[in-house]
Amino acid sequence: MMEQGGLKASGFQRLRFEVLKRDGFTCRYCGRTPTRHGVEIQIDHILPRARGGKDKLDNLITACADCNQGKADGLLSHDEIERMRLPD
Ligand SMILES: [Zn+2]
Repeated sequence: MMEQGGLKASGFQRLRFEVLKRDGFTCRYCGRTPTRHGVEIQIDHILPRARGGKDKLDNLITACADCNQGKADGLLSHDEIERMRLPD
């Protein structure tokens, strides 16, 4: 008698798991995983909701927190580049 016939609060949670499972719990942008690299895994919309993107399997992708926030997307700030060039 639970959750018959509809997407309620748990609907997106289930979808989210389907995305993670499809992508093997691996960031699709950089290939890192929580178990091997300690990254936080999130779900990213390929077409953002704000632009009409749907909560559908083919519009969702597994991304680590860094990639999801655009930090590992070739958009490094000057400070971040400086930090990567260790003076050793
Ligand atoms: Zn990533």
